[in-house]
Amino acid sequence: MASALTDKLTRLVKEMRGQARITESNVQDMLREVRMALLEADVALPVVRDFIARVKEKALGQEVLGSLKPGQTLVSIVNRELAATMGEGVADINLAAQPPAVILMAGLQGAGKTTTTAKLAKHLIEKRKKKVLTVSGDVYRPAAIEQLKTVTKQAGAEWFPSTPDQKPLDIARAALDYAKKHYFDVLLVDTAGRLAIDEALMKEIKDLHAAINPVETLFVVDAMQGQDAINTAKAFKEALPLTGIVLTKLDGDSRGGAALSVRQITGAPIKFAGVSEKIDGLEVFDAERHAGRILGMGDIVALVEQVTAGVDMEAAQKLAAKVKSGDGFDLNDFLSQIQQMKQMGGLSSLMDKLPSQLTAKAGSLDMDKAEKDIKRKEGIIQSMTPLERRKPELIKATRKKRIANGAGVHVQEVNRLLKEFEQMQGMMKKMKGGGLMKMMKRMGG
Ligand code: GDP
Repeated sequence: MASALTDKLTRLVKEMRGQARITESNVQDMLREVRMALLEADVALPVVRDFIARVKEKALGQEVLGSLKPGQTLVSIVNRELAATMGEGVADINLAAQPPAVILMAGLQGAGKTTTTAKLAKHLIEKRKKKVLTVSGDVYRPAAIEQLKTVTKQAGAEWFPSTPDQKPLDIARAALDYAKKHYFDVLLVDTAGRLAIDEALMKEIKDLHAAINPVETLFVVDAMQGQDAINTAKAFKEALPLTGIVLTKLDGDSRGGAALSVRQITGAPIKFAGVSEKIDGLEVFDAERHAGRILGMGDIVALVEQVTAGVDMEAAQKLAAKVKSGDGFDLNDFLSQIQQMKQMGGLSSLMDKLPSQLTAKAGSLDMDKAEKDIKRKEGIIQSMTPLERRKPELIKATRKKRIANGAGVHVQEVNRLLKEFEQMQGMMKKMKGGGLMKMMKRMGG
């Protein structure tokens, strides 16, 4: 995983160099990456196809602004498109109804309906100051009714009793009646789920919907469900006018591609995300953050932006061309490399932006020390004369001493820098193009 991401990152940055527009030919490779990332994140195939087509259309022929390069532009387009696809709509629960506002919970068994019902109850009590009643229509599993009772208590809401010998419709009507008489603001109706879609279940929940006329019909779906989410979502959308989605179990290690599939299939906004088994594990869904998760790139957009914004691309390209053409790589170029690294905002801030899978690998590096080291090197080179920088072979004992004095370091450090420069020079000769990321890797460890 870590190495695949590293490769992706390196490739994206490489793509950024030298090309001014996104074209049919350079966009293909990049889109293939994005497609892979989406499939790996378990976005359903038809949804991926649609998405890629939309991105391609947006990307093709786009003039690249300022110093932005195709790789960066494409990543931005993908990220924006992902976030826009998942993020439109009203985020919070709609309670604009004659009280009690009824909220119907729908979804497969195990999706997290009961847990989410209690989480929502807590949210509505604490954030919206509402008086909340819950009721379970799951007459097939007595344990489910008990479970709702327990978690409702934890949420600080009131629970309306039901028993397995009752009909779900009668339970819901009785609860609604009770809620009206006792001035509840909200009634949350938990429903029976099945392990798979079945006709009887769908008819039951449709009838329930017709009888209680909910202001919100929330589809609860497990983020780990992956490719199957698309079929479940289709079935529930056909049965019910869904008003929102709750994506549960986002604390798991799935990349959460189900979000995109379910959003596209149902057209309903994703309102909340379940992020733990606990009663307070509910968050308002953050589409932008989720886009990054789906692409598996951490805050890669910010990283790419930082790398290109801070660095003088023209200088970087000149240097790259120089190396490529075989012109000597001297200490001035070495200094310019060091300064480019500084412009990127320092190593540690750069590391913060990388996906955690990547930084875990670099965990043993002492970033502070590395940054100080860069500053000292800069100081040493700046104490050299222009001639010395162009012809480092001139730097012998007396010159070394003078340079060390000027930079306030020991002669050994000057020696070390010269040695490092020689190694770098050797490396640059081998390396076509002089990629910044390659540089970073070498210098970082
Ligand atoms: P239901 O059958 O749809 O009512 O599902 P439940 O509410 O009983 O949840 C099924 C399982 O998923 C339970 O073990 C829950 O604790 C767990 N669960 C629900 N939501 C989340 C979540 O957001 N994160 C995690 N980690 N577990 C969850």
